[in-house]
Amino acid sequence: MARSDPYIVMPADAVDKIASSALSRGSLVLRRASADDMYIVRAVETAKDVRLQVDVSREYAALRSGDSHHAAQWIRVAPNDAHIHHLLLSRRPHATIAFKDFKEMVPGVSDPGNKLGVVVTHDPGLPAELTEAGASEFAGWAVRRSGVRPLHIEVEPEIIGLKQLAGKWPIEQLTTNSVMVVGCGSIGSAAAVALAGYGIGRVELVDPDRFLWHNMLRHALGAEGVGRFKVAAMKDHLAQHWPQQDVVAHRLDVVADAHHIRPIIDRVDLVLCAADGIAPRRVVSHLARRARKPAILACVLDNGSIGEVIRLRPTPRFGCLLCLRRYLADMGAMDAEADQELDYGTGRIHQPMTAVPPDLRYVGTFTAKVAVATLLESLHGDHTQRVPGEHAIIGLRPVSDLATPFDLSQAGDVRWLSIPGPRTACPTCSSG
Ligand SMILES: [Zn+2]
Repeated sequence: MARSDPYIVMPADAVDKIASSALSRGSLVLRRASADDMYIVRAVETAKDVRLQVDVSREYAALRSGDSHHAAQWIRVAPNDAHIHHLLLSRRPHATIAFKDFKEMVPGVSDPGNKLGVVVTHDPGLPAELTEAGASEFAGWAVRRSGVRPLHIEVEPEIIGLKQLAGKWPIEQLTTNSVMVVGCGSIGSAAAVALAGYGIGRVELVDPDRFLWHNMLRHALGAEGVGRFKVAAMKDHLAQHWPQQDVVAHRLDVVADAHHIRPIIDRVDLVLCAADGIAPRRVVSHLARRARKPAILACVLDNGSIGEVIRLRPTPRFGCLLCLRRYLADMGAMDAEADQELDYGTGRIHQPMTAVPPDLRYVGTFTAKVAVATLLESLHGDHTQRVPGEHAIIGLRPVSDLATPFDLSQAGDVRWLSIPGPRTACPTCSSG
């Protein structure tokens, strides 16, 4: 097959219809999408003069498009004959076989006249060794009187989506886990998408805000979400791309609605906080510690020059967010963060808005990875994804004028650190 040949796309329902038909050949209706040079099988003759539409589910927009209908044929062939030829011819670009030789091999093929005939042959008894060699049960042919060429048929596989990862990624384990995502902005939406891709079974989204025009540049959502509540629009977005995942949307403010937040934390395995501002992060640190759940906090600092991911684990080895901040302040670290600590309660928030969109998605995906690594280690005893520490500082557009440990000088650099133990009499850690 040459790169310039058209493609035939065959939905699973067309496969079923042909394979289960009692006929040995019948007609097909193809739809041609000329811009993409492909044919889509849209109807199959399953019994004499009975032609059934092929089901193509709604999300396959391109497969439901296409213009002029094109009459074609399907033919059941004897094993070991046509499909070996198809395989051999496919490996020789521009090779053709004479129409009369093809007709001998595939009796029942109609004479295409002066036009192009498209034929799909079905060999239900194809031996396994031929399948392994690359032959398939369905083969396509461009039939002209001047010669016949093989066409590629792309058959919809039985297993698609995350199930394809089974045996290669701990998908069965992660399906049983749940994560609460606090803050569905740039970082949070990217983290939620990544959690779905890693196979986390349930995500509970928490955010009180609407998705507006100025959010669009840096968000997983597009124009379709403008005006909606972020959690509701994200739930729909995730359902469309990751239908196996359970998503719960909560239009809640983690600070003002803390009494509603506690029961959610109680039923999830981990909290991922990507909310802007010191107050929500402190509340998450406190509530997660009390509920004995790990929390991963993500943000960008210093106008998007660095990303920061903190993992808080409810063990006597590690303190809470306040314990870490106090320790860093004592070291003389990070004026920007110290400013925000001082401004706590005045409504001043982190300012990620100068950050570049992919940098925020990068931090969101990174945070989801740390969350997944934490779940695999703590709940499944799987250490294959172990991360190097509890506190990651990520170079995005570093300006290298920050005090240690934030003094990265290169983009793409990740500095991993531990975090200190609890302070004596820390109100979060001591009774936790
Ligand atoms: Zn503490």
